[in-house]
Amino acid sequence: MSMLRVSEKLSNGVSPHGRALVVLDDIAQGEVIISLEGRVVSTVDKYTIQIEEGRHLAPEGNGWALANHSCLPNAAVDFSRFAMIALTHIRPGEEVTFNYLTTEMDMVEPFFCGCGAPHCPGEVAGFRHLSLAQKRALRPHLSAYLARHLGE
Ligand SMILES: [Zn+2]
Repeated sequence: MSMLRVSEKLSNGVSPHGRALVVLDDIAQGEVIISLEGRVVSTVDKYTIQIEEGRHLAPEGNGWALANHSCLPNAAVDFSRFAMIALTHIRPGEEVTFNYLTTEMDMVEPFFCGCGAPHCPGEVAGFRHLSLAQKRALRPHLSAYLARHLGE
């Protein structure tokens, strides 16, 4: 990917995770970090965010594609606003992360997360692959689609 479209508070950067979405200016808790502009598609790739079964948002050059996974994220996807929202105050130089397991039923490219968070599943393969306890721990930030699949 070349330079992606970002807002004035963000930049294309690098982090220990590789390419990253990096904050240039303070972002307050609850603030919209970036709108989830893109195109709804039926096919998954490593940059899409799942909206519903068979519906995924493709970034189409928008910078939110650079947001990496974290089990202790500073952002979450809010489909009611179609935006990434800050869960904490994010300071300049920090990268924007969200928990991919709050949106993706199945990861097209599973990977190992060694972050060490108590609830880190290790392999990030998709919501479907989590234990019920792991799923419940994500409840506050789950997409509506995944919340309907909590198995309760
Ligand atoms: Zn982790």
